[in-house]
Amino acid sequence: MQNRIVDILKEYGLKATPQRVTILSVIEKHGHANIDEIYKEAKEKHTTMSLATVYKNVTSLVAMKLLKEVALNNFKSKYEINKIPHSHLVCKNCGEVEDIDLTNEIESDASKLIEGKDFLAEDIELNIYGLCHNCKPSLT
Ligand SMILES: [Zn+2]
Ligand SMILES: [Zn+2]
Repeated sequence: MQNRIVDILKEYGLKATPQRVTILSVIEKHGHANIDEIYKEAKEKHTTMSLATVYKNVTSLVAMKLLKEVALNNFKSKYEINKIPHSHLVCKNCGEVEDIDLTNEIESDASKLIEGKDFLAEDIELNIYGLCHNCKPSLT
């Protein structure tokens, strides 16, 4: 896993500093993680890691487009390693985020929606809010 992280950093022309590798390993492990979650686990590996360091590294990795911010209603943003565009299922109760594929149909529907608008579309962000399998009431 560490090697994969080093490869990703290399791809972006970035040095594999211990801070970056640790932060990205935590995000990779969870798929999506917010600053507090990253800090909590990163600190276990590097006791000297401060919240400010996590914040600074995450912000710069977002600026380099290596990380993507997933902005969430009512919860702190989570971060994920940038990959192919996809959508998210977001639990309103616990903030759990799950990836779902962004299908070609959704993408073409979205381009239909903006037809005739003087707008240059770049990304589609689609979050579907609801209750995850842990939080939804069981029917039994
Ligand atoms: Zn939940
Ligand atoms: Zn995602």
